[in-house]
Amino acid sequence: MGILGKMVFIGFGALSLALALVIGFSWGLSVQSFQGSDVLKDVPLIDGHNDLAWNLYLRHGNNLSAFHFDQDLRDDPIMGTAVCDACRTDLPRLAKGKIGGQFWSAYVGCDSQYKDAIQLTLRQIDVIKRLINKYPDNLEFVTEAGKIESVWKTGKIASMIGVEGGHLFDSSLGVLRLYYELGVRYITLTHTCNTPWADASTVNEGSVYNLTDFGKTIVHEMNRLGMMIDLSHVSHNVMRDVLVTTKAPVIFSHSSSFSVCDHYRNVPDDVLYMVKENRGIVMVNFYNNFVNCNETREASIEDVVEHINYIKNLIGPDHIGIGGDYDGVNDMPKGLEDVSTYPNLFNRLYNNRENETEWSREDLEKLAGRNLIRVFGAVEEVRDSLSEVPPSDRVISGMELYMAQKKEGLKPGACQTATEWKQVDMTKL
Ligand SMILES: [Zn+2]
Repeated sequence: MGILGKMVFIGFGALSLALALVIGFSWGLSVQSFQGSDVLKDVPLIDGHNDLAWNLYLRHGNNLSAFHFDQDLRDDPIMGTAVCDACRTDLPRLAKGKIGGQFWSAYVGCDSQYKDAIQLTLRQIDVIKRLINKYPDNLEFVTEAGKIESVWKTGKIASMIGVEGGHLFDSSLGVLRLYYELGVRYITLTHTCNTPWADASTVNEGSVYNLTDFGKTIVHEMNRLGMMIDLSHVSHNVMRDVLVTTKAPVIFSHSSSFSVCDHYRNVPDDVLYMVKENRGIVMVNFYNNFVNCNETREASIEDVVEHINYIKNLIGPDHIGIGGDYDGVNDMPKGLEDVSTYPNLFNRLYNNRENETEWSREDLEKLAGRNLIRVFGAVEEVRDSLSEVPPSDRVISGMELYMAQKKEGLKPGACQTATEWKQVDMTKL
């Protein structure tokens, strides 16, 4: 070997050594520096419930030309922190929070029940679709489980729609079916008001209707359609009734554990066991009043960790997800203040304390999105297995509607509840 050859050889040897050192060092570094939130590079983080659309209605009258979603809105004069306690969502913060999939809630209040609920719900579905279309580089409308991950891989947030409240289809199976055609993929069976066929969590342990026979028909029709059944907000008895009726897994889009904090919006242990059996999912809510029942202190991320760990200890890692409830409530725990903070939660769960459950990468991936994608896919499989079943012709009886309105202390009428009608000054007409 000549001098040149030796030099090349030595040079090559030194380079190999340097390369080995660099690879070994960075490998060691990457193992040591793994954080729980790193799983959010491997799986889309899917949140079950965000009420941004309701704030768009309340604060912008659904006028999107005045809404700048691509800007940090913390100091915004209409959606900023100083003027809107519930407003905690914009695209820069969603990106920081590593959100990969979001169920945007089409919600309208219970004061619209038996009145203009359907018209207002259609407007909320419309504003969500317009928002998605306005930001095509950031958001993409998704109606299939199999599309969530592929859309997320293009750098966009897979955007889905959930309708929050059974009052929003006015006990009509026809309207329910058309919501599915519009791309709605879950319906929460009640909000805070009872429907003529299901009780809300506000009846606590009591019952007005539980799930009626007509309610069971609705569950079957949702199974047939492939519409996910959301049991957040229903009474504990309705949770139990639906779980023995449904053929498909259910979701709780934004609910926590009743044993950890005994608010009736949360899920009791016997129902959690039923969810495990049903292969469903409880997407844990962050709202202060649902996660912390101790009024002498402020809620923090530690409370949310306690709920998530409790559910995992009871029924395993396959039935938990995230349903922050951002933009739907006024108070969020310290450490989870807005949609930029989800990574804090994954880091904290991975850094488990003594006596706390351990989270593997695989477990964290399930929590982030894999469980929801599995449930969504299973609901589609049930739909496909029922493809020979015709749509239900059933119509709720007038007597059921009349009695329901009487029980709720309502008078059937043609009143409007939309904000524009509330602004009318009758004295100026
Ligand atoms: Zn809610």
